[in-house]
Amino acid sequence: MSVEEYWVGERSDSAGLWLYDQRIQHDDPAKIYAFDFRSRSMREYPRELARDKLQVVTDGRRDDVVAAYREWFKLNGDKFVELEREKRRQAEEQEHARLEREEKRRATEKELRQRIEQQRRDDLPRRHRAYLERHGFADRGVICVEDAKHRTTQCWYCGGHLDSTQFVACTSCRWLICYCGACGCGYSRDRAGR
Ligand SMILES: [Zn+2]
Ligand SMILES: [Zn+2]
Repeated sequence: MSVEEYWVGERSDSAGLWLYDQRIQHDDPAKIYAFDFRSRSMREYPRELARDKLQVVTDGRRDDVVAAYREWFKLNGDKFVELEREKRRQAEEQEHARLEREEKRRATEKELRQRIEQQRRDDLPRRHRAYLERHGFADRGVICVEDAKHRTTQCWYCGGHLDSTQFVACTSCRWLICYCGACGCGYSRDRAGR
């Protein structure tokens, strides 16, 4: 016979008797399972209720409660533990599935953002060419600028946000090319004309 760690207590408010079996733990640390002598059933209680309202019973009533509990356990103990385990397993499974969905959603969002960003970058040479044509400059193509230092600035032409991580600049003026297609070429001309 295994060691049975029973703890029998009396509720100070209702004089009900409870038995606590250490082998049957609640997975929520704020709760406990306790055997209610009056209803001969295992129930769930807040842990602090057990702590605040129970007084240890060591007299003959303890034997009655333990006997009733053993009877209950013989019939329901294994099933109860099994059901609780199953409940816990299902909850864990649901949580796992939720996390997986969340991770997938985030990955999809990231991929979409990257794809949009890539499309905008791929489009830069074409936009740049159109810009140069509009302003009468020769298109000498684009160069990659892999600045060690990350810097941001504003497009003089459209006011858009420019970021050195765009890595593409105009071969002629070496300015970063904005998503609008503008580089520094038009800017130099304007200044020279002043
Ligand atoms: Zn721009
Ligand atoms: Zn340029």
